[in-house]
Amino acid sequence: MRKTIIAGNWKMYKTLSDGQELAVALRRELYKIENIDIVLCPPYTLLTYLADALETSNIFIGAQDTYWLDEGAFTGEISPKMLKDAGCKFVIIGHSERRQYFGETNESVNKKIKAVLKHSLTPIVCVGETLNEKEKNLTFKVLDDHITNGLKDISKEEMLKIVIAYEPVWAIGTGKTATPEQAQEAQKYIRDLLIKMYNKDTADAIRIQYGGSVKPDNIIQLLKQPDVDGALVGGASLSAESFSEIIKKASEVVK
Ligand code: PEP
Repeated sequence: MRKTIIAGNWKMYKTLSDGQELAVALRRELYKIENIDIVLCPPYTLLTYLADALETSNIFIGAQDTYWLDEGAFTGEISPKMLKDAGCKFVIIGHSERRQYFGETNESVNKKIKAVLKHSLTPIVCVGETLNEKEKNLTFKVLDDHITNGLKDISKEEMLKIVIAYEPVWAIGTGKTATPEQAQEAQKYIRDLLIKMYNKDTADAIRIQYGGSVKPDNIIQLLKQPDVDGALVGGASLSAESFSEIIKKASEVVK
């Protein structure tokens, strides 16, 4: 059975005191939730603080990106070794904003996945088509590309430690959520690709999140889809009220 996983991506929002307030409120609201893996991905400056503050809670901490080497003369970068040391358990890799604005490629995604796994962190690997690609009916082609090249030379054992996030770029931060049927179609396509690359048992064990304008009023229908195993939430994870409502609603519908 795939345990539902809901992660909040705070992007470049929240100072230490804002993040502290949000984390304390979430901890208070969500302490009873056991059937969902809850992850917060704050900016790097908050990682150590939040990892300490939430250490004994049911909330995990993740980073929004990483470099692939352990250390070196790479000004401005941060390594999986440092993220582990800061208390992270998850790392988002290949977010569309990294692909769009910071030159992330399938090749760098692949190196980052391997580096993160080496440090026993869980990669949340983002894939998905832009609006332009969707309009040209290229969604499946983009998924083929992101999945087969991003996961190149990843073994079956490693694959079982990875979470995939299907994030149609046209739905991120736009308020235009994919319909539950669109999310299901793309996520089934991803699972079928994983069957071809690995096998059915492996593909069936891998959690695939949906991301793109997830809100309290659409989470239930999305999670009812057989291949939607959670959500990666941007905007709605920035307030304790909306993020805890998403998690509580999810907790009621999942097994
Ligand atoms: C995201 O940042 O991954 C995301 C899905 O953002 P939003 O929920 O704001 O669309």
